[in-house]
Amino acid sequence: MEGFNMELKSCRKCKALFQYSGGKILCITCRADEEDSFLIVKDFLRENPSASLEMVNSETSVPIKLIKEFIRDGRLEVSNRSPLAVDCERCGKKTTSGRICPACKNQIARELNSVGKISPAPNKAEEPEYKGMRSKR
Ligand SMILES: [Zn+2]
Ligand SMILES: [Zn+2]
Repeated sequence: MEGFNMELKSCRKCKALFQYSGGKILCITCRADEEDSFLIVKDFLRENPSASLEMVNSETSVPIKLIKEFIRDGRLEVSNRSPLAVDCERCGKKTTSGRICPACKNQIARELNSVGKISPAPNKAEEPEYKGMRSKR
């Protein structure tokens, strides 16, 4: 049985104590507020896909910080051409797809892969007699 390790936390936004059960440290009220903001921003972007961060902020009055958070969380679907972007946490380049840019995501996936399967014969690539051996087999 999991899910019963509730703890009281202070809401990041309004400082009220609430029963924290995972995810963002926000009380139910603030979480609902944020959800509203998210939907507003999402709707606005659907109609104005090339709107800048400042534009979204001035049109929806959702704080820029929060809009960035939505992008970083990967919740907000932003088109590739959109000026809405956050800095990649790895290389610092602008990205519209979560905290890490696609290039870095690939890189990380590759690194994880190579860690997973440590090459059994590191010298294999520089085998000089490869041609001859092959015909014998
Ligand atoms: Zn709150
Ligand atoms: Zn990157």
